[in-house]
Amino acid sequence: MEDCLFCKIAAGEIPSKKAYEDDEVLAFYDIAPQAPVHVLVIPKKHVSDVYAAQGESDAFLAKLLRTAAKVAGELGLAENGFRLVTNCGADAQQSVRHLHVHILGGRPLEGKMG
Ligand code: AMP
Repeated sequence: MEDCLFCKIAAGEIPSKKAYEDDEVLAFYDIAPQAPVHVLVIPKKHVSDVYAAQGESDAFLAKLLRTAAKVAGELGLAENGFRLVTNCGADAQQSVRHLHVHILGGRPLEGKMG
């Protein structure tokens, strides 16, 4: 999608520090990390958020979640644990309107939700 930051990252038009990539998904390090490990997992196809992703296949969503778990493991987070977050819309303060799952870990995380 034109003028979508994460579409440009997925296309390699804007550089990112990649953690994982295949034909369908890309995982890259967040530019403003909120934890010692903070990686974003995105589908390469433009879908604005998880609500809109209801229009996609079960496999599409499963792939995103499975990749997040796989990358978390590869980054050494499996033993102590990690958090996956996907913000959706204004109240959740979603700032980039391209579906992404945050992987957060590497230290005990505050709270349970926010
Ligand atoms: P959200 O607020 O859930 O939409 O998350 C968007 C995330 O994208 C934030 O954590 C930003 O720090 C991150 N971000 C924005 N621009 C970039 C970029 N060019 N490379 C990597 N991460 C980015």
